[in-house]
Amino acid sequence: MNADPVKDALDGMSAKQLERMRELIDRRLASCVIDGTDGAVPVRCTAKMNANSLTFTLLLCPACIEKHRLPESRSEA
Ligand SMILES: [Zn+2]
Repeated sequence: MNADPVKDALDGMSAKQLERMRELIDRRLASCVIDGTDGAVPVRCTAKMNANSLTFTLLLCPACIEKHRLPESRSEA
């Protein structure tokens, strides 16, 4: 038999509990790209390279955002 304790646990949960778990999993898996800390938040970035502009999202923890963001005077609107 293929015992799968994770699947068994999921099968025993209500839809509401599964929604809650998905929320927790998403948060748990959201780790900061700089230091790997859990609880990172999506940060929308725009890179201007020559004629091209690329918009993307990075996961960063609040501490890294504070530490690494450019001062207001050097950031672009
Ligand atoms: Zn971080």
